[in-house]
Amino acid sequence: MHQPLVDYHCHLDLFPNYEAAFAECRRGAIEVLTVTTTPRAWQKNVELAAGSQSIRVGLGLHPQLVAEGHAEIDLFESLLARSRYVAEVGLDGGARFYKTLPAQRIVFERVLRACSAQGGKILSIHAVRTAREVVSMLRTHLPERRARAVFHWFAGSVSEAKAAAEVGCFFSINSQMLRTESSREVVASLPLGRVLTETDAPFTETAGASSKPSDVYSTLKAAAPLFGIDASALQARVWENVQELERFEYP
Ligand code: MN
Repeated sequence: MHQPLVDYHCHLDLFPNYEAAFAECRRGAIEVLTVTTTPRAWQKNVELAAGSQSIRVGLGLHPQLVAEGHAEIDLFESLLARSRYVAEVGLDGGARFYKTLPAQRIVFERVLRACSAQGGKILSIHAVRTAREVVSMLRTHLPERRARAVFHWFAGSVSEAKAAAEVGCFFSINSQMLRTESSREVVASLPLGRVLTETDAPFTETAGASSKPSDVYSTLKAAAPLFGIDASALQARVWENVQELERFEYP
C-alpha cells in the first residue's frame, strides 16, 4: 500500500530555487501543503502547483507581516472563495511581534469570520505564545463544523494542546519540536489521530542544512518512539490522518 510522506507546512516559494523545489515535490512520493505568507503570492503558487494532486497551496497572511501588510486582508478575503487551504495565519506574541498583536487580532478575527462564512476550509495556524487565545478565537469565530484547523509547530503546553484537541484541532509536528524534553512531552501528549508532520522548510534545519520536505522522515523516526510505534507505522498513521482531515466537507 502506498504511504506517502507528508509535509503539511512548508514554504516552497521561499526556497532559493523555488522552481526546483516544486519540481521535486511533483516527482517525489510526498504530499505537501505549501503555504504563502501574503495573499499576493498565492496566484503564482497555484500556477506552480498546477496539475499536481500532491501539492496543496494555502492562501496566507502571516501574522509577522501584519504590521506592514494590514491592508492585504481585503485581498485575502477576495481570494478566499478560490482556496480550500488557508495558511499561514494566526497570532504571534513573541518578543519581536508583540507590539503588533492588536492589529494581528483584528486581521485574524476577519480571517476566521470569512472562513466560517464560506465553510469547508482547512487552516494551518501559526501561534507563538498565543495558543490559548487562538483556541478561544476559534471557539468564538470558527465553529468546528465550519472548518478544520491545524496548529503548525505547536509551542504551547500540554494543557493548551488538550484544549486545542478538544475544539477539533490537528497538529503538524517538526524536528524542532523534538529537541527539548518539555516539547517532547507536549508531542507525546497529542492524540495520535490528530498528528501530522511538517518541516516549515526552508526555515528549519535538518542535519545542518536548510530543510526540504522529504526531511519529514527524520521527524517520523524521532517522534515514533514517543507514541510507542515505529517510523513506518507513524508514516502510515499520518497519511490516514491527512485523509481523515481532508474528507471534511461542511454541512
Ligand atoms: Mn511557516
